[in-house]
Amino acid sequence: MINHTFSNDTIAAVATAPGTGAIAVIRLSGPEAISITNAVFAGKNLLNQASHTIHFGTIRDGEKVLDEVLVSLFVAPHSYTRENVVEVSCHGSDFIVQQLMQLFLKKGARLANAGEFTKRAFLNGQFDLAQAEAVADLIASDSALSHEVAIKQMRGGFSQEIKRLRAELVHFASMIELELDFGEEDVEFADRDQLRTLILNIQSIIRELLKSFELGNVIKNGVPTVIVGKPNAGKSTLLNKLLNEEKAIVSDVPGTTRDFIEDEINIGGITFRFIDTAGLRETTDKVEKIGVERTHQKLSQSSLIIYLFDITTSSPEEVQTEIEELNPKKLPLLAVANKIDEASAALLSAFGNMENLVQISAAEGANMEALKQALMDKVNLGKLNTQQQTIVTNLRHVDSLNKTYSALDDVLNGLALGMSGDLVAADIRRALYSLGEITGEITTDDLLDNIFTKFCIGK
Ligand code: GDP
Repeated sequence: MINHTFSNDTIAAVATAPGTGAIAVIRLSGPEAISITNAVFAGKNLLNQASHTIHFGTIRDGEKVLDEVLVSLFVAPHSYTRENVVEVSCHGSDFIVQQLMQLFLKKGARLANAGEFTKRAFLNGQFDLAQAEAVADLIASDSALSHEVAIKQMRGGFSQEIKRLRAELVHFASMIELELDFGEEDVEFADRDQLRTLILNIQSIIRELLKSFELGNVIKNGVPTVIVGKPNAGKSTLLNKLLNEEKAIVSDVPGTTRDFIEDEINIGGITFRFIDTAGLRETTDKVEKIGVERTHQKLSQSSLIIYLFDITTSSPEEVQTEIEELNPKKLPLLAVANKIDEASAALLSAFGNMENLVQISAAEGANMEALKQALMDKVNLGKLNTQQQTIVTNLRHVDSLNKTYSALDDVLNGLALGMSGDLVAADIRRALYSLGEITGEITTDDLLDNIFTKFCIGK
């Protein structure tokens, strides 16, 4: 691994979210974490205590008691960062937290940068880079599936797969390089047929992984969804219906009072994010005609279209034509017929043969389950097996996998052309480099900064 500018000082940060809470946690990591805390702590001598113990006492600035706290000790290397770590649980007032932080900084700690605890954990070998990234995903996870995928990656599932591929390639690279050591002598330690088979095999695994990103991206970032349709089709009624059902679920869980995030709904573990719904959520009596341009702008940001129409004022032919005009790029589109409560049986059956159509009454909430199922089907979740399949959720990994793939193409070409061992070896090295970037066997300071500055401070 490339050497990193790695400061070995002691860092401190507030680990809990800002604002008033029952408790807040300040975390320190580094060689002086315990001694700095001990210098302001009235209670047991922390320097003599065992790892993984908790101590009650007060934090004092001189004579002044700032708070009663619990101090958790983690002695190196048995901690998240593998350094000495102290977690001070104090009362959750921003004022107290600020006072304690200032005191720790005065006593020699430095304010941690974003993600610095996790960066230290990575640099000290606690886990690899893909696992470190999964920590951030886990913190950000907001649905059952994003949680599941993040926790699997954090526990090393994805990393193992990458490392396995890498180990096989390393073997061949070293065999070829051994040949080079023999210079002019005509020896071949690396069986070219085997190498070709291996590379084809690795490429097919990479293709699977790259394909999984379609779903991985959906799981992590949600599905940008638009509802389009003529004025009065019932778009805002439908949106409100979906959002209200979701709100009901959230507030039914005892003890949850979290703020509802506008215009997102979670169906079957997938977050559907409704784009540009401001217009829809305005008062319904002010019907504004949404211009064609505006609709197209919305469509360009979306990956799923709900086309809603008023069944009582439409014909199947009309609907078909509109859909074709609306969706030249053939994005996944769900046609939804609204106001079935007012439709005659004859009208309903006229639409009965239309494929991919869900018939609902947004006002009465009829057929909403069928609508949700159809939305899930559109994002193809049926094919997903999160338990067994490795799912790539990270754009950085996609980039590295693509680079690996094309380096492997070059190896194959080199083999086909009977190129010399040193050229083939160079291409294999390139593939290894890109694969290694995923798990962090290969890193640069820039790469690490890029990753860890996206973390929150205190993690
Ligand atoms: P938008 O212009 O597409 O956003 O349409 P709105 O949601 O404002 O609805 C237009 C009108 O249709 C309102 O008067 C709604 O009450 C009515 N509406 C919406 N959904 C239904 C439905 O399922 N059945 C009936 N009968 N009326 C509906």
